[in-house]
Amino acid sequence: METTIACPACRKKHPLPTQSPACTRCGLDFTSLMEVRDAAARARRHALDHLRAGAYEDALASATESWNLQHHAASARIAYLTCLVQGDFDSAAEWRNSHRGT
Ligand SMILES: [Zn+2]
Repeated sequence: METTIACPACRKKHPLPTQSPACTRCGLDFTSLMEVRDAAARARRHALDHLRAGAYEDALASATESWNLQHHAASARIAYLTCLVQGDFDSAAEWRNSHRGT
């Protein structure tokens, strides 16, 4: 679980939740970044809900959307499981490898 956010400009790490919407070192506004992270988290929750409901195409679409917004290992895991359940082992292997290093 992520407990910090690194400023994309100066790489200074800030604890989450941030007390300020801007980097305390360089002043970069985090608002847009936080919106993207929130959208990625929403898509990840939807993916998990779809997976639990057996709506595998929707699960994979939401997991992919989440992954495209933020390379979070949980999104890749959901996509991996969705591919496994569907018997798509080639795609599952790609998802398994995609989140290494995240
Ligand atoms: Zn900064």
